[in-house]
Amino acid sequence: MKIVADRKKCAGHARCAAVSELFELDPNGYIGFDEKSVPKALEPLAQRGVRACPERALKLIGDPPESSS
Ligand code: SF4
Repeated sequence: MKIVADRKKCAGHARCAAVSELFELDPNGYIGFDEKSVPKALEPLAQRGVRACPERALKLIGDPPESSS
């Protein structure tokens, strides 16, 4: 899973960063990355942080299914 951030929508509320340090902010308090991989163990925190964003600037993209070959 990865977090995708739309930096144009980010308004710098830092609500995501309050949920988890996964959501690193830049020095001005805006989301500091475009995409970030999330370790399996941190996926629940990533989901909470994405839901906390009032600007809908964050979304989660699932991992592609593993091939069975
Ligand atoms: S909660 Fe949303 S708007 Fe606020 S800093 Fe995080 S990504 Fe930006």
